[in-house]
Amino acid sequence: MSTYTPMIQQYLKIKAQYKDCFLFFRLGDFYEMFFEDALAASRELEITLTSRDGGAEERIPMCGIPYHSAENYIKNLVEKGFKVAICEQVEDPKTAKGVVKRDVVQLITPGTVMEGSMLEEKENNFLASISEFPGQTFVITYNDLSTGETSVARVTSGWESVLSELFNQPVKEIVVSPDLPENYQTDLQQRLQITVSYQLECGVDNSFASLTEHIWEDNQLLEGFGRMLNYLQNTQKRSLDHLQPARIIQLQEYMSLDMFSKRNLELTQTILRKGKQGSLLWVLDQTVTAMGARMLKKWLERPLLNKKAIEQRFAVVEAFLEQYFERESIRDALKSVYDLERLSGRVSYGNVNARDLIQVKHSLQKIPVIKQLLSQFKSESVRSLAEGIDDLQELAALLDESIKEDAPLTIKEGGIIKDGFNRTLDDYRDASRNGKKWITELEQREKQETNIKSLKIGYNRVFGYYIEVTRANLHLLPEGKYERKQTLTNAERFITPELKEKESLILEAEEKSVDLEYQLFVELREKVKQFIPDLQALAEKISNLDVLQSFATISEINNYVKPSFNEKREISIEKGRHPVVEKVMKNESFVPNDVKMDEASEVLLITGPNMSGKSTYMRQLALTAIMAQIGCFVPCEKAELPVFDQIFTRIGAADDLVSGQSTFMVEMLEARHAITRATENSLILLDEIGRGTSTYDGMALAQAIIEYVHEHVKAKTLFSTHYHELTSLENTLKSVKNVHVRAEEYNGNVVFLHQIQPGAADESYGIHVAKLAELPDELITRASEILKQLETGQNQATLPEKSEPVHQVAKEPEQQMSFFEVKEQRPSSDKHRSTEEGALVRELRHLNILEMTPLEAMNALYELQKKAKK
Ligand code: ADP
Repeated sequence: MSTYTPMIQQYLKIKAQYKDCFLFFRLGDFYEMFFEDALAASRELEITLTSRDGGAEERIPMCGIPYHSAENYIKNLVEKGFKVAICEQVEDPKTAKGVVKRDVVQLITPGTVMEGSMLEEKENNFLASISEFPGQTFVITYNDLSTGETSVARVTSGWESVLSELFNQPVKEIVVSPDLPENYQTDLQQRLQITVSYQLECGVDNSFASLTEHIWEDNQLLEGFGRMLNYLQNTQKRSLDHLQPARIIQLQEYMSLDMFSKRNLELTQTILRKGKQGSLLWVLDQTVTAMGARMLKKWLERPLLNKKAIEQRFAVVEAFLEQYFERESIRDALKSVYDLERLSGRVSYGNVNARDLIQVKHSLQKIPVIKQLLSQFKSESVRSLAEGIDDLQELAALLDESIKEDAPLTIKEGGIIKDGFNRTLDDYRDASRNGKKWITELEQREKQETNIKSLKIGYNRVFGYYIEVTRANLHLLPEGKYERKQTLTNAERFITPELKEKESLILEAEEKSVDLEYQLFVELREKVKQFIPDLQALAEKISNLDVLQSFATISEINNYVKPSFNEKREISIEKGRHPVVEKVMKNESFVPNDVKMDEASEVLLITGPNMSGKSTYMRQLALTAIMAQIGCFVPCEKAELPVFDQIFTRIGAADDLVSGQSTFMVEMLEARHAITRATENSLILLDEIGRGTSTYDGMALAQAIIEYVHEHVKAKTLFSTHYHELTSLENTLKSVKNVHVRAEEYNGNVVFLHQIQPGAADESYGIHVAKLAELPDELITRASEILKQLETGQNQATLPEKSEPVHQVAKEPEQQMSFFEVKEQRPSSDKHRSTEEGALVRELRHLNILEMTPLEAMNALYELQKKAKK
C-alpha cells in the first residue's frame, strides 16, 4: 500500500469500507473507478478501460464517466442489481492541503433508488429485511423509500413460507444478518433473484420512536424494523422524515397463496414472459393514478378473509356501477391527481422542485371535487369514503399563492415565486423592472440626442449593458461621453457611467431576487414537509378509491357479477369464464362453464383430451375466488363461493430450473405443500399429477393423493388427469365426482368443445392432438396401430384392463416390482431363455422413464413386449 500515491491510498481506504459496491470516486469532472471495479464497470457499462500510474510498479486499471452524465450509468448498474457508492470531494480543491478530502455521501442500491427515472411508476420499489428467530419464526419488513411506507410481518411457518411471502413482491434488495444461513441467502439470490445486503446492527434510535411506538414491546418486530432502518441510515446519510410508522401485516388475515400458486396462477406476471401483460392484474387494472395501480397490486397479492371487509368493497363497487355518470366524473377527477406518495417522498428527501409542488397543488385542488362527487352517491358505503378525506386546502392555497404555474425545473435560477408573495422579493423585482424600463427610455433619449436611428442598447454576460452604434454612424457620436468596450465587424459597443450605475442596480436586484427565491422555496419545502403525514393519509384514501372505481369499471366492461359467500363450503358458479383467456381470445368466443361442488363432490376428477381446456377450467375457479376475495366482481352469471383460506396449485410447466430440481421433484414438492398445509377451507388444484414419472408410478401416486385428500384433507380439490382409469374412483370414494371436457370427432379430426360435462371422458384423443400438431403421417399411423393393439388387449400381461379398477394397481406394487426380478426367479436350467430375458431386463433397466412421454413409454413397452414374445 505504501508504494501507492496518496490519492490511490485514499481510494483503497474508502473502497475497503464499501467492498460490495462500485465506488464512484470523484476526480474533478469525472467519477473514476480503479482496480477490480474498473474491470467490472468497463464490462458492465461498455466503457473504455484505461490505466494510470499509481505509484506501484504495475499500472492501475481505471475507467471513468463524466459526473454530469452519471445518472444513466448508475441506473444501468442498479437495474442489474449492483450497488453504487458515490464518493465526493468534500473540501474545496483550491484550499485543500495535500490530497483533497473525499467521502462517500450516498449509496445507491436497488432497494433505495429515489430518482424518478429509475422507478417504475406503477410499481413499488421495496427494500426488505429478514430477521430470524427461534421456532421457525422470521420477521420480514418492507420499505419503499420513494413513498415512505414501511410494514412488518411475522412468518411462523418456516423458510418456505418466507419465500412464498416474498415471491412476486417488488422487492429489489433484501437486508439480512451476515449470520443468515448460507442456503437461505442462496435461495434469495437465485430463486427470487434479489440483491442481498448485510446489516448486523438492529437497534432503533430514539429519534424514530414515533415510527415504532406500537411495536416497541415486540422485540422481534422491533429488531426486524431496526435492521432495515439501520441499513437505510447507513446508505442514505440524509433525512428520512417521510418514513411512515411500520404497519403490521397480520398474515393470518389474508388468504395465503404459496409461491407455486402465485406463479402458476399468473396473478401479477406471466410465467413465460415475466411481464404484466397476460396476467390477472393486466385484466383488472383500470386504475388511473400510479398510487392506485400500486395499491391494486397489493390487494391482489393479499385477498381478504374477512367477509364483512370484502362485502364493504362489493357495496362500493355496486354503487359505482349503479351511478355511472358520477363514477365517470370521479374517474376523470382522479386522472388529475398526481403521485402524492412519491411527491411527498421527494419533499422529504430534498429533491423536490417547483413543478413537483405545482403537481401537488393541482392534485389537491381536485380533492374537494372528488369529495363532492362521493357525497352525491345514494350508497352510504360510498358517502362514507368521503368522510375521512382531509382535502388539505390550506396547503393548496399556500402553493397557489407562492409558486408560479410555469416555474422552471431548476430551483436555483429564480422564476419560481409569484409576485405578491413576498414584499422584499417584490421590491427587488421592482428595482430590476424599473431599471429595465429606465434603460428602454435611455435608448429613446440617446437616439434622439445623437440622431442615430439604429442605435440600440443590448446586454451580454461579459460586458453587461452596452450602447451599440453601427460603424457608418460613429461620426455622429459626441466626443468624451462614450467609452469604447468592444469592436465588432460592423459596429462598436460603448458604455457610459450612467448606464453602468443603473446596470449594477439591476444586476444586484436580480441576484438578490434569485437568492431570495431559492431561500423562499426552501422555506416552502419545509412547510410542505409538515404536511407529509396528511399527504400520505390522503394518498392512501385516493389509492383505495381508485382501485374500487377500477373494479367497477372493469366489471362493467367485462360483465362481471357480484358473488355471494356461504358458510356451507359450497361452490356454485353459473357460466363461469376465465378472466384472462376470454380477453386474450380474439375471434373465437370463450365457452362458459359451470362449477358445482358441495359435500358430495369435494373432489372433481376432470378427464378429457389434452388442450381441451382442463387447466383453464381449474385456474378459472381459483382466479374467480381470488377476484371475489379482493372485493372485485367475478366473470360469470352467478357465483356462490366459500371464503377460501388458502389456494394451492400444481399446474402446468413446473420446471424450477434455478433450484436445479427435476420437473417431477417439483411436482411432488408442490403436491406435498398442498396436502400438508391445506385445510377443509382451502382450494387445491392438481393438474396431471404423476405425468412426470412412469405410467404405473404416476397413476399410483395420483390415486394415492386423491385418496389422501379425500380422507384426510377434505379441501375442495380439482384434479385433472389423463389416467382415464382413475375415473372408477367415483365408485369407491363418496365425495369424488367425475367431470369431463367434451370433445367430438369429426371426419377423423377431433373438435374441442371446451364444455365441462358430468361423467368421465371415454377416450383419449392424444393421437388426434398429435395430428393437429402436424407430426409426420407415418408416425401418426404407427401410433394408431399401437393404440389399436393396446386396446385389443395384446398387452394384458402388463396393462390393466379398462374395466379393472386401477386403484388395485396402486395397492399391489409387488406385482410390478416382480417384473424387475424376473431374472432371479428363472430356473437356472433354461439358460438360453434366461440370457435373452436378462438382456430384456437390462434394456428395461436402462430406459429413462422420467424423461419419456406416455406415448414414448408405450412405444418402448411395445417393443419390449414384441421381443419378449419372440
Ligand atoms: P388442457 O389443460 O386440457 O390441456 P388448456 O386448459 O390448456 O387445456 O386449454 C387449451 C386451450 O384451449 C387454451 O389455451 C384456450 O385457448 C382454449 N380453451 C380452454 N378453455 C376454453 C373455453 N372454455 N372456451 C374457449 N377456449 C378454451
